[in-house]
Amino acid sequence: MEEMRRAAAAYYENLPVTNKRYARYIFSSMDKNGDGKIKLKEYSEYLNKDNKTALAHPSLFRALDKNNNGSLDFEEVVVLYYITQSGRALFCKSCHTFLTDVYFSCSQCFFKGDGVSTYEICCDCYGGKKFKHHGGAIFCDNYTLLSRSRRLALQASKEKLSGVLEEIDIEMIEGVANLAVSAGCIIM
Ligand SMILES: [Zn+2]
Ligand SMILES: [Zn+2]
Repeated sequence: MEEMRRAAAAYYENLPVTNKRYARYIFSSMDKNGDGKIKLKEYSEYLNKDNKTALAHPSLFRALDKNNNGSLDFEEVVVLYYITQSGRALFCKSCHTFLTDVYFSCSQCFFKGDGVSTYEICCDCYGGKKFKHHGGAIFCDNYTLLSRSRRLALQASKEKLSGVLEEIDIEMIEGVANLAVSAGCIIM
């Protein structure tokens, strides 16, 4: 989680003023009683209202709560903002805890291409074999998958590669409309 906090802080520093203002706005919308702190109740109410039910899971709240004082300050909510904007809101498919820095993902499901059926689990569930998934699944950690994706993109023929890049471009453009962010990248 520490790594994610650093990424979130760097991300926030580079946000345009309007988006920084938007992050403040989200914080104050969550902070129902205006005491500058977000309690678990305010947190889940806000996220359930927005139909972001997976995010309302208490495991994410606990992960965000750096000093374990039972409430979130602005800096901690910035991490939530970063997680939602960068599409890093992933939960273990087995025990449902929030996945922080390193997790394992079924490579067959990851590369299937429909983009919806990925299967990721936390290190504990993977190490303790506490999950049920299809037979023959090959699990890779998220860093390995990232470098594999890059290798695959490079291996693709020139046209295919430009297709991939076009897709990335489209995502980036959509990302600009969607608060200038796509896949954790910041568009300058
Ligand atoms: Zn798990
Ligand atoms: Zn799978």
